[in-house]
Amino acid sequence: MYTLIDGKEIARQVRADVKVRVKAFTEKYGKAPALCVILAGDNPASKVYVASKEKACGWVGIRSVAKKFSADITEKELIEEIQKLNQDPDINGILVQLPLPKGINEENVLRAVAPEKDVDGFHPMNAGELMRAGAMLEPCTPAGCIELLKRAGVELSGANAVVIGRSNIVGKPIAMMLLRENCTVTICHSKTKNMKDILKNADIIVSAMGRPRAVTGDMLKDGAAVIDVGINRLEDGSIVGDVDFESAAKVCGAITPVPGGVGPMTIAFLMKNTMTAAEMQNA
Ligand code: NAP
Repeated sequence: MYTLIDGKEIARQVRADVKVRVKAFTEKYGKAPALCVILAGDNPASKVYVASKEKACGWVGIRSVAKKFSADITEKELIEEIQKLNQDPDINGILVQLPLPKGINEENVLRAVAPEKDVDGFHPMNAGELMRAGAMLEPCTPAGCIELLKRAGVELSGANAVVIGRSNIVGKPIAMMLLRENCTVTICHSKTKNMKDILKNADIIVSAMGRPRAVTGDMLKDGAAVIDVGINRLEDGSIVGDVDFESAAKVCGAITPVPGGVGPMTIAFLMKNTMTAAEMQNA
């Protein structure tokens, strides 16, 4: 029998802790912490993500500011807007919703966000700190995955952990965090030759590849803990993860659902990072 790792409920608990900190901050400084979300263009999925972030701000008492720009904004203009927000004492966190419109170099834009307001944890300085002792602002999705494993009581120290995916925003930081938790970490990617053999030896699998139901139960070790980061939209409009839940659930010890697993944790950790950024800026 497997344990269902309920990301919705765990995210609710994380948000409840943040709410207490927001209340104390607001009472002390006479203003709530503020998160500015930048949306350029009209990508429908991005609009949904931005709306859910605004809603989460409302739940915890963070002031939400949305800066919306048309798809023809230039990289220079966008960076200038970010620089203004960097200087604005009333803004504590800045998040640039990805993807950006064609022609804008995402790397240049992410580098423009002041590291102390970089609540996504994507700035090279925060990414570098993560590689060392750990950053004050760490990427939300990876941090959410580690929290799910811990709250599900999964033993991390000494575990064989396999991360599928090596993106800068998900795969790589998760691998670093698992290493910090004393896992023995293997990273798989599209050129990995014997992924099935590697997965069979994994006590923990974190899949972030964006391939619908590509990981099936027959690939898993008995009792493995499975964290499914993937969000894949099928032709019928439904959303599924990278893991075939039905077959995996027959073999694994614990598993996150999609939706309702990692997704809510990402937003809860965005709230937590905004609160941390506000506290750091006022320390
Ligand atoms: P990405 O930048 O496209 O990276 C995907 C990674 O998966 C790449 O490293 C790629 O390898 C690897 N990959 C692709 N096909 C593979 C295969 N058949 N076997 C092994 N590895 C394979 O994506 P991302 O931004 O990291 O996001 C990954 C997934 O997580 C997406 O579904 C995304 O929607 C989802 N996501 C969810 C949340 C959340 O809050 N739940 C947050 C962020 C992202 P190469 O490097 O060799 O190309």
